[in-house]
Amino acid sequence: MVDSSLRNTIIAGTAICVLGLGLCQAATAAARRGQQGLTKNEPMGRHKGKVLRGAHMLIGGEKDLEALRAQIPVLAAKGLNTIVVEVDYNYQFRRRPEMFDPSGVTLAGARRFSATCRRVGVNVIPEIDCLGHQSWASATGALLTRHPELDETPGQYPNNQGIYCRSWCPLHPDLPTIVYPLIDELVDAFQASSFHCGLDEVFIIGSPFCTRCHGLDPALLFAKQVKSLYYHLLLHRVQMLMWSDRLLNASLTGYGEWEASANGTDPAIDLVPKGILLCDWHYEYRDSYPSLGIFLSHGFSVWPCTWNDANAASTFSSDAQTMNQWRIVGALSSTWGAVNASQLSAWPPFLATLEPWLN
Ligand SMILES: [Zn+2]
Repeated sequence: MVDSSLRNTIIAGTAICVLGLGLCQAATAAARRGQQGLTKNEPMGRHKGKVLRGAHMLIGGEKDLEALRAQIPVLAAKGLNTIVVEVDYNYQFRRRPEMFDPSGVTLAGARRFSATCRRVGVNVIPEIDCLGHQSWASATGALLTRHPELDETPGQYPNNQGIYCRSWCPLHPDLPTIVYPLIDELVDAFQASSFHCGLDEVFIIGSPFCTRCHGLDPALLFAKQVKSLYYHLLLHRVQMLMWSDRLLNASLTGYGEWEASANGTDPAIDLVPKGILLCDWHYEYRDSYPSLGIFLSHGFSVWPCTWNDANAASTFSSDAQTMNQWRIVGALSSTWGAVNASQLSAWPPFLATLEPWLN
């Protein structure tokens, strides 16, 4: 049963979309034109004749980015051609001055990083983790610290006790004017043609503590947020990526409630645009990884993602490669602090992830 207020929101959104169809078509055409004559980093996709051999790194500030930049040539020599830099709010934002981080990445640093990557054929994808992951342990992230009004559970869970991570409210009317300028600023700073929106491990959604979301279908709320991000990026000719765990059903797939959803968001798989590149992360060894087939059958392109278990990384990446499906675009090695930049090029899980996709 869809709540009537959300149904009205969706109907209104559909009407706007129909009215704006010409705009959407124009944006798509613009995106095609942009891909023909790109001055930014190359668009992704195996269908463009390019397999994506990637790594994902957390960037806490300018020093982290410089340390990674120093390793880019050697990483490229190992086969890396795509780097996801999760900057989050660790940037010297100017379009939203209240979000300025003094030790964050600078515009000059981002441009320097992008230029180094371009010289050796590495595509740069910046990331802000959206919706969930707005806190970590007792520390609330910069967005909800400066804008507590965006909190999905305002005033609840002191010191974040009893929860995994805070979420922002996907229905807050001020969200686009606060968050989207941050996304746009990172895209411009890194001269990127793709952006990773995170969206993983959202456990708090449709909270009873939120006056807007209380009682609404988690799948509709999640899909609404995903679509909003997608169409914002589309109008800027930017490809969207996201972690795809919230689109999988934990009980049907046999995955756990982290790498798949046990909180009702998974029906959103039928509601979000197929143009999103899904980052399908699984870090443990399994006899099979059914999510790849699920996403392909729903029409998505998929980027399998590994972590710190070299055997599991090799198995998942090899399984994906041997499926020989053009919408499986390569493999992504995530690090999550398990290795620093100077050690990444010799890190066994990284090498095991890329190896099936070389040549
Ligand atoms: Zn809410």
